Amino acid sequence: PSKKVEQWKYTTCNYCSTGCSIEIGLDTNKKVVTTRGHAGADVNRGKLCIKGILEHELFDSPGRGSEPLIRDKHYEAFEKTSWDNALDVTSDKIKSIQAQYGKDSFAIVSSGQLMTEEFYTLGKLARGCIGTNNYDGNTTLCMASAVSGYKRSFGSDGPPGCYDDFEHTHCFMAFGSNLPEQHPIIYWRLKEALEKRKFPLIVVDPRVTMLAQFADIHLPITPGTDCVLINAMMFVIINEGLQDQAYIDAHTQGFDEVKALVQDYDPKSAQHICGIDEDTIRNVARIYAKAPAAMSIWTMGINQSTHGSDGVANINNLNLITGNIGKPGGTSLSITGQCNAMGTREWSSCSGLPGYRYLENADDRQEIADFWGIDPEFFPKKRGLAETDIFPAIETGEIKGMWIVATNPMTSMPNTARIRKALEKLDFLVIQDVYEDVETNQYSHVYFPASVWAEKEGCHTNTERRVNLISNVLPPYANSKPDFWIFNEMAKRFDNGKVINFPETPEGAFNEMKQLSKGKGRTLDISGMTYEKLVKAKGIQWPYRERKREENCEQDNEAPESLKGDPRLYTDGKFQTKSGKANLLPIKFFNNNEQPCQDFPFWLNSGRVVEHFHTRTRTGKIGNCNKFSPTAYMEMNPDAANELGITHQSYVRLTSRRGDAVVMVQLTQRVPRNMVFIPFHFFDCVNRLTLGLLDPHSRQPAFKQCAVQIETVDQV
Ligand code: SF4
Repeated sequence: PSKKVEQWKYTTCNYCSTGCSIEIGLDTNKKVVTTRGHAGADVNRGKLCIKGILEHELFDSPGRGSEPLIRDKHYEAFEKTSWDNALDVTSDKIKSIQAQYGKDSFAIVSSGQLMTEEFYTLGKLARGCIGTNNYDGNTTLCMASAVSGYKRSFGSDGPPGCYDDFEHTHCFMAFGSNLPEQHPIIYWRLKEALEKRKFPLIVVDPRVTMLAQFADIHLPITPGTDCVLINAMMFVIINEGLQDQAYIDAHTQGFDEVKALVQDYDPKSAQHICGIDEDTIRNVARIYAKAPAAMSIWTMGINQSTHGSDGVANINNLNLITGNIGKPGGTSLSITGQCNAMGTREWSSCSGLPGYRYLENADDRQEIADFWGIDPEFFPKKRGLAETDIFPAIETGEIKGMWIVATNPMTSMPNTARIRKALEKLDFLVIQDVYEDVETNQYSHVYFPASVWAEKEGCHTNTERRVNLISNVLPPYANSKPDFWIFNEMAKRFDNGKVINFPETPEGAFNEMKQLSKGKGRTLDISGMTYEKLVKAKGIQWPYRERKREENCEQDNEAPESLKGDPRLYTDGKFQTKSGKANLLPIKFFNNNEQPCQDFPFWLNSGRVVEHFHTRTRTGKIGNCNKFSPTAYMEMNPDAANELGITHQSYVRLTSRRGDAVVMVQLTQRVPRNMVFIPFHFFDCVNRLTLGLLDPHSRQPAFKQCAVQIETVDQV
C-alpha cells in the first residue's frame, strides 16, 4: 500500500470460502484507505486475490442502502421510513399472511454471506418464533449436493480434509473446480506444494480451465458423466486388486454392492459415455490407487447437476476404497463457494436445527426446544422446502410472502423469467441487503438496509472448517444496521421472541453455539473457542473442544500448537453413522439432463471469472474488478464459430427452451466444438437460459448443463 496508514484492523475476507485473513488500513482521519493480507495467517500467509485486495472499496461503494424503505406495490417509488415502522409493517404482514394461509405460507431465504452468529439467530427467529418450515439459504445453489453426499457417505456433513493436505498428497485430482479463478489463494497453496514436491495434478473438466492448463492429465469429460468415470476407475482398481482392503473391511460397509455395480462400467464401454478413452481411465485409476496418499477436490462442476449428490458420494467411494480419508494428503475435500457457506450448513437451521441437528429426529427437537425454552411441538417434524422449491410454491399459491436476506435470485437462480413471475405474484416481499439497487429489490414492498461485513462482528467458517473472526472496522454506514440487530429486533415482535433468549451481542450468540456444540461425540465442536483465541490464532479449525481450552487456560503463554483445532476428521476411521462405518454407496449412472439436439445443438456451461463474486452486487461496484471484467461474454470454439459465420467480438443470440440472451463472442480453444461458456455473474444473461432441473437428494439445480442454439445478430 502506498497510502499513509496509521492503523491496521484485523478481519476476514467476505468473498469466497478460502477464508483469507486481512487487515484494513485506516489513515489519520480514521478513513479506510487500503487492504493487505495478514502475513501471520495459516490460510493465506499474507497473500490476497484481486477481490480481497480491493475489499476496502466496499465501505463507500455506490448503491448502498442508507435508510429503510417502504411502498405498497412492486415497482412504485419507495418512501423512506423508520426502522420501527419497517419492522412493524413486516412483522404485522408476516402474522396476517400466516393467520390467513398457515405458518408455512411465509418463506425465508438467506445466504452464505452472513456471520455464523447471524445464521444462528435467524434460525431461532425462523424456526422458534415465526414458525415457518420454509426457510432455506442460497447454499442450495452451490453446496447442497456436497452436504447431501457427505451425509450419505459419512453420516454427517463437514469436509474431512484441509489445505495442509496439499503438502502431503501424492496425487491431486480436481473434479469441476477451477481454483485459479474461483479460489485463487487455495490455488496458490497448491502451487506452492507442487513447486516443493512434484505430484500428479489430474483435472476433470469439459473445459480447458486455467487449472486444466496446469494439469499433468486433463480429462475433458462429457458434461454430467462424472459418475461413469469414477465407476470405471473403481472397476480398474477393484479388478486389479489395488483397493485398500484392510481399510474397507475395518471402516466401511457396502463394498460388495459397489464391487458388483462397477462391473457394468468396464472402461471399454464407459469411454463411450464419459468421453475419456479407456487407456487414460486405466492409467488415472492406477495412479490414484497406487499413490501413498491421494486427494480429490470438487466444486460446482460436480454439485450443480441433477446427480450432484451422487457425484459427491462416488468421489467419497473412490477415496474410501483407496483408504484416502482422514490421513495427511488423503481426503475428499469439497471446496465451498461463499465465505460462510459452511457457517450456514453448521448453524443456520436452514435444513433443520442448529449444530447439525435434524427436525426429523425427536431427540434433536427436544434438545433445542429445551435449550431455547419452548415447546418442541412448535417445530415441524421434517424439513420444509429448499430455495429451489420455494419459487414453484409461490407459483402454486402455497407461499404468499417472503423475506430474502443477502441473496439476489433475480440474477442467481436458473430460468429467471420464472423467478420474475413468482416474485411479482407475492403479496409481500421484504429484501434485506447491503445494496438498495440489488436487482431483486425491484419486487419488494419493504427494504432493510444492512451493514457491510466489516461494519459488524461475527465469525465465518471456511472450506477447511476454520472459524475466523470478522471485526467491525468501521461503524455501520448511514442508518444501515447489522443483520444480527435486524433479526433480534424482529424477534421482539413475536410471542416466542419474549420467551427465547436472544443475546444482545454476536459474542453472546457464539457462546450459546458453543454450549450446543458440546457432547455426543460431535465433530462440530467449537466449545474451546473464544473470539480472543480466534484473532490470536488467525482462525481455528473445528473440532476444538473445551478440554483444549482448559488446558490452554493453565498456560500463561499459549503455545501456537494449543490454538490449533483438528486439521482432519475421521482420523480414527470412526464415522458419524449408526454403525460407525462409512457407507460405500453403489451409484448407478442416470441421465435426465437436457442434451444437445438438432434444434439446440450446443452445451451451455457457466462459471466464474476471477474478478467477480456471485451476482456482482459488490464487485460490480469496485473499480478494477469492474474495469477488468465489465461485461458478460461467451467462449466459443473457433471451428464451431466458423461453421456458423460467427466472428470474434461479434454479438450472438443464444436461445434455450426457457429464454434468450444476447452476448459478445470470444473465440477460444478453451471450449470444445459442441460447448459454449458464459460467466454467471451478470444480470439478465446466462440464467435466462439455464435449466431448473434439480438433484433429487439435494434440490440443487443443474446450472452446468443445458442445450442452446446460437444465431448471429446485427445489433445489440
Ligand atoms: Fe478473499 Fe477468496 Fe480472494 Fe482470499 S481467495 S482474498 S478469501 S476472495
